[in-house]
Amino acid sequence: MKLSHIEHIGIAVKSLEISIPLYEELLGLKCYAVEEVAEQKVKTAFFKIGDTKIELLESTDPEGPIGKFLEKKGEGVHHIAFATEDGLQKTLDELSGKGIQLIDKTPRKGAEGMNIAFLHPKSTGGILTELCEDPSKA
Ligand code: ZN
Repeated sequence: MKLSHIEHIGIAVKSLEISIPLYEELLGLKCYAVEEVAEQKVKTAFFKIGDTKIELLESTDPEGPIGKFLEKKGEGVHHIAFATEDGLQKTLDELSGKGIQLIDKTPRKGAEGMNIAFLHPKSTGGILTELCEDPSKA
């Protein structure tokens, strides 16, 4: 397997309306995309810093994954996503073979047309870890 870089850092926020201008000031960058991922019950906002993005995540449903996270832990870092250059399914199979617990055994669609899969934080030292594959580069 081959991970190329940190694709993005996912940060749970209560309100994009409040957090987008905050991060625009903090980073000195404009938010370049806002996208709803209905399946994940989130609205996302993206900033780009070099090869890495900051993904702000606002919940659209208190029962969704970000809704539950906010309820339990409040705002803050939610996950770290690595880009794989070696095929997402292959990477998942390889990690699973090493005993890493997967949340997604097969890739699914994430924001920005990426194929994504999550690893279980129980297997990754408490950090929810996402792997991403850009299908346009696969
Ligand atoms: Zn993500």
